[in-house]
Amino acid sequence: MDKQRDFVLRTIEERGVKFVRLWFTDVLGTLKSVAIAPAEVEGAFSEGIGFDGSAIEGLTRSYESDLLAFPDPSTFQILPWRGEIDPTARMFCDITTPDGEPASAEPRNVLKRTLAKAADAGFTFYTHPEIEFYLLKSSGFGAEGPEPVDRAGYFDNVPGGTAHDFRRRAVRMLEDLGISVEYSHHEVGPGQNEIDLRYADALTMADNIMTFRTVVKEVAIEQGVHATFMPKPLSGEPGSGMHTHLSLFEGDVNAFFQEGAQYQLSHIGRQFIAGLMRHAGEIALVTNQFVNSYKRLWGGDEAPSYVTWGHNNRSALIRVPLYKPGKGGSARVEYRAIDSAANPYLAYALILAAGLKGIEEEYELATEAEENVGALSSAERRALGYQPLPSSLYDAIKQMEDSELVAETLGEQVFSYVLANKRREYEAYRSHVTQYELKSTLDVI
Ligand code: GLU
Ligand code: MG
Ligand code: MG
Repeated sequence: MDKQRDFVLRTIEERGVKFVRLWFTDVLGTLKSVAIAPAEVEGAFSEGIGFDGSAIEGLTRSYESDLLAFPDPSTFQILPWRGEIDPTARMFCDITTPDGEPASAEPRNVLKRTLAKAADAGFTFYTHPEIEFYLLKSSGFGAEGPEPVDRAGYFDNVPGGTAHDFRRRAVRMLEDLGISVEYSHHEVGPGQNEIDLRYADALTMADNIMTFRTVVKEVAIEQGVHATFMPKPLSGEPGSGMHTHLSLFEGDVNAFFQEGAQYQLSHIGRQFIAGLMRHAGEIALVTNQFVNSYKRLWGGDEAPSYVTWGHNNRSALIRVPLYKPGKGGSARVEYRAIDSAANPYLAYALILAAGLKGIEEEYELATEAEENVGALSSAERRALGYQPLPSSLYDAIKQMEDSELVAETLGEQVFSYVLANKRREYEAYRSHVTQYELKSTLDVI
């Protein structure tokens, strides 16, 4: 720890860093930042930097508002988009109360608590997200909605296209920040792109996702376009998912792998999937946190609407991908509900808690879905026992309200904050008269 602090202080000196941004995340997944002078960094490591937590969404109640931010030296990076003049660095922070207790409502702490629970059971949790987003001509939009930067589709190679330059620059910046990228490509929707990050432990990955969103926004500004992680920005086009590949390791051994088992999937892997399936509806308010999220989930285009699992089945909620022979270490399951607008700390905490519950309680895994689930009739789905995911934000609120698993994992404060915030969002949406209604009804009756 001291070595890492020394490294940070030395690098600040050697690289002439002029500002150090301290980053943390509010309950809805918005990145917060306060810049401190290099001379303050040593003090920040030992005493923290005080701030008013009650001004941050969901973090504290106003009668206990003082919080401290302690920068985590292992997350120190110089921000590549700040250039050579007056270099700026950043560190993610651990948030505590004035008496040094981890702030219970801080999302990074929520994930850390859940990871500690997994560690007690002998597991390390790794994730690898495929992050989809849209590039638009501008943040403004007319009656027809936002305008994407191109009309290209899946894997299209667009010579001289905006998306190419965009991805190259973003991937380069991510690598400069120590975030490895596995793949990047144009996605199915016009202006839609995907960048896949190489797997890491879930806490590092949640930090990486927050950095990723900032990098994508910065590159968009640099290139005069607008980037959005909104789950479904264009009617009739695919939404932006953040499919996440998940695995548990016991030491060096992938606990999801078992040679000779069906799909080489271990007993633990099966129970983990069963846990995710049993609790998918309860955690949806966090993995899919906006009114708009449900337009993606129920809009087709390879987004899952039903609680199913399958081997390489892209219509299922959970997919068990093929592993190459000899690649047992890469055994994993892909969770396809979560979208690109989720708070990664809270979402990963709940996904892990659901999977662990399946292991603890030895849940039985249902039969796999071999068909295209979206193409079945509702009678067929009923006969096969496929349950729907929540169909709206309202439905998701109802399912989370009754969830012991979510209340316990998020802690009382975050749990009630999320519910109150989402009830407000749903109420505002419900009472709003939309363009769609005006167009379809005003002149009809
Ligand atoms: N865009 C799709 C979704 O919203 C996913 C497409 C894919 O399989 O990558 O989940
Ligand atoms: Mg994709
Ligand atoms: Mg995928």
